[in-house]
Amino acid sequence: MMTHEALKEKVNNWAKKIGVKPLEIHVRRMSRKWASCSSRGRITIHSEIMKHPKKFIDKVIVHELLHLKYPNHGKMFKVLERAYLNKKK
Ligand SMILES: [Zn+2]
Repeated sequence: MMTHEALKEKVNNWAKKIGVKPLEIHVRRMSRKWASCSSRGRITIHSEIMKHPKKFIDKVIVHELLHLKYPNHGKMFKVLERAYLNKKK
């Protein structure tokens, strides 16, 4: 299983790729969701996510990081999310 540090490094790598700078990255237990992004740029990831496949982890990370660019799930958000995750329509 991945360590907290490895997970944070993964977030940093994606942040570079996407061109955003999260203020802080936290890994801890969360009750209702897999991850969150505050308006100030603090990314929190549920520690339990490390039990899931890489694809799912990437999906959650990319989603939260894109919120540093776009607060809503608008058209550009969805286009970029799909592009970064190489998803087909
Ligand atoms: Zn979202």
